[in-house]
Amino acid sequence: MSRKPIIVGNWKMNKTRAEAAEFMTGIEAVLTGNENADYGIASPYTCLDVCVKDAKHLIIAAENCHFKDSGAYTGEVSVPMLKEIGITYCIIGHSERRQMFNETNEACSLKAKRLFADGIVPILCIGETEAEYDAGRTADVLKEELKGSLAGLSAEEVSKMVIAYEPIWAIGTGKSADSTIAENCCKLVRDTVKGLYDEAAAEAVRVQYGGSVKPTNIKEYMACPDIDGALIGGASLKVDSFTAIIDATK
Ligand code: 13P
Repeated sequence: MSRKPIIVGNWKMNKTRAEAAEFMTGIEAVLTGNENADYGIASPYTCLDVCVKDAKHLIIAAENCHFKDSGAYTGEVSVPMLKEIGITYCIIGHSERRQMFNETNEACSLKAKRLFADGIVPILCIGETEAEYDAGRTADVLKEELKGSLAGLSAEEVSKMVIAYEPIWAIGTGKSADSTIAENCCKLVRDTVKGLYDEAAAEAVRVQYGGSVKPTNIKEYMACPDIDGALIGGASLKVDSFTAIIDATK
């Protein structure tokens, strides 16, 4: 089966609405006529409507959501709120949210289920810390995160989702995982999905690599059979570097 690659920029807590609008104008011009891959941006909540308004080709994703529809959850944003403004993808379980905001595997599974109910595709992030990597625990960590975060989802739902393998030691460090490590871990993700579900779900699920992806190394990852794209932090913030990444994947 051939999977369409998906490249998503994750702006994290960066960009005002004015900056987002400027980026959108620059990047949309580059994307015209490129059907080889899906390209997207995950932006802070405050910029989402600006991005949706200007997006003709770009997927616009949220960086988080709550699994409840409404209620006394100060500071949170629900899936119906995202759906109302036209959001089609949403990151869940990013390591920064797991580490700084106590996002658990259980919360990820509830968020994924709720997103699917409104037709929004979850981009589930998983990945090991440097200490876990050094201790040879990567496979165990990834399997545990997958088992917990995918709990309650159907094979059909898992087939549609995106899973991003992001080793925490490679995020924002400039120390990207070499393509052999990235490929082995993305293959492990696929094999784990096969074990938890079936061959069809494993063949369909799109698995991204994330962690210090740049215009200079994106091609190496895209050449790997089990890597279907990338989740990109720093290099997605400037039109020039995100354009260079897009050009390298055309
Ligand atoms: P960097 O590309 O800045 O390492 O960030 C990766 C990331 O966390 C994307 O979600």
